[in-house]
Amino acid sequence: PSLPLPLQVCFIGRSNVGKSSLIRALFSLAPEVEVRVSKTPGHTKKMNFFKVGKYFTLVDMPGYGYRAPRDFVEMVEAYLQERHNLKRTFLLVDGVVGLQKTDNIAVEMLEEFGIPYVMVLTKIDRASRGVLLKNVLEIQEFVKENTQGCFPQLFLVSSVEFSGVHLLRCFVAHVTGNLPTLEAS
Ligand code: GDP
Repeated sequence: PSLPLPLQVCFIGRSNVGKSSLIRALFSLAPEVEVRVSKTPGHTKKMNFFKVGKYFTLVDMPGYGYRAPRDFVEMVEAYLQERHNLKRTFLLVDGVVGLQKTDNIAVEMLEEFGIPYVMVLTKIDRASRGVLLKNVLEIQEFVKENTQGCFPQLFLVSSVEFSGVHLLRCFVAHVTGNLPTLEAS
């Protein structure tokens, strides 16, 4: 029998949304997973694959935005269409600026391909309470009105203060089948 494909989760978001920082924060307790963060922010152009032991692979997508919309669409579309063994996609949204028009590129693609995803609000340490609340409410409304495949619970994280990182780690472990229940073990 052929070996099962390793399970994948994928992280996407606008350039500079804090994707590399979040991935690094997620793996801060697993130093064997090497995460590079570029010195010039927002310059991740290609896909990176982080293999987490035999458990799962995290796919880091190139950032989208005004710099490289076409590259993004080509690369990401090809990847998403092939599906691999993609368990969940994490769509990162900047907690300071909230959902932007360009985020629709990603939302529409995920919706069109029927790929389950969750939204993650980043850099929450930098947003005031008022701004954060406004962005959370806007996203909740957007998810409710405009999406089918988006998990209704938004994740709030700060890679600087490590808030929300532990919960997200657990969620990743769960969707990749790495938190087996008693019955399943
Ligand atoms: P990427 O382009 O999406 O990979 O974004 P980076 O991880 O390179 O982050 C872009 C910029 O935002 C960098 O200057 C980071 O230091 C900053 N940044 C990332 N995450 C956070 C965060 O949680 N809080 C704060 N205050 N800054 C962050």
